[in-house]
Amino acid sequence: MLLSGGIDSATALYLTKKTQGVRTLTFEYSGIAGSELSAARAIASRAGVIEHRKVRLPDLKEAADIPGFSPQGLPPTYIPLRNGIFYALAASYAEETGAASIVGGHNRDDAQVFADVSPEFFSSLQKAFWSGSRILRRERLRIVRPLKTLRKPQVIRLAASLGVPLELTWSCHRDGEKHCWRCDGCNSRLRCFKEAGVRDPLASPRLEKIN
Ligand SMILES: [Zn+2]
Repeated sequence: MLLSGGIDSATALYLTKKTQGVRTLTFEYSGIAGSELSAARAIASRAGVIEHRKVRLPDLKEAADIPGFSPQGLPPTYIPLRNGIFYALAASYAEETGAASIVGGHNRDDAQVFADVSPEFFSSLQKAFWSGSRILRRERLRIVRPLKTLRKPQVIRLAASLGVPLELTWSCHRDGEKHCWRCDGCNSRLRCFKEAGVRDPLASPRLEKIN
C-alpha cells in the first residue's frame, strides 16, 4: 500500500494491517520533508509490515518548485499527475510481489480538489493495469481506497479508535524535528483534530486553544 507520513495513509494501513503480507511504498520526490519520510518508516515499522520500500524520484517536483507552473485551483504542493505516477509504480511493485490489491489513503476532501483522486480515474487505472499486465489481471489486482467516503475529521476519529500512533504522523510542509504549526499542513491538522474532538498528541494545549 501507498504510505506517506500523514494521518490518512497511516489510518488506511491500520485498517489493512490484519491482512497477511502488507508491504508499504513511500515516494521520495524533490522537496519532500525528511521528517515525513522518517514518519512513514516509523509508522510502517510500528504496524509490523513485511517490507517498507522507498522509491526515489528526485526529478519529480511540487508545483511551487516548477518555474512558470501554477495550475488554477490546486495547492502549491500539487505534483503534476502525482497519482498516475505513484500508482503505476505501486502496480509494478504489486506485479513483482504478487499483491492482490493496492491501498491508498485518500479521503473524501481530496477527491474534491484533485482529479487524480476521482473514482473515474482509479477505475480507468485499474482497467489499464489489467490490460498492461497478465500477472495483475490473473491476480485480479484491485485499487482499494478505504477512506474515500470520510472527511478528514472522521478519519481522525477512526484513527483514534484503531490505535493509530498519531504521535508518529507528520503533517507539516516544512522539514524539522517538530511541526512548525504555521504552514497550511499544520493549520489543517489543528483544525481537523479540533473538529474531530480528538486530542492531538503532537500539539500543545495552548496551540489547540488558539485554533
Ligand atoms: Zn508546518
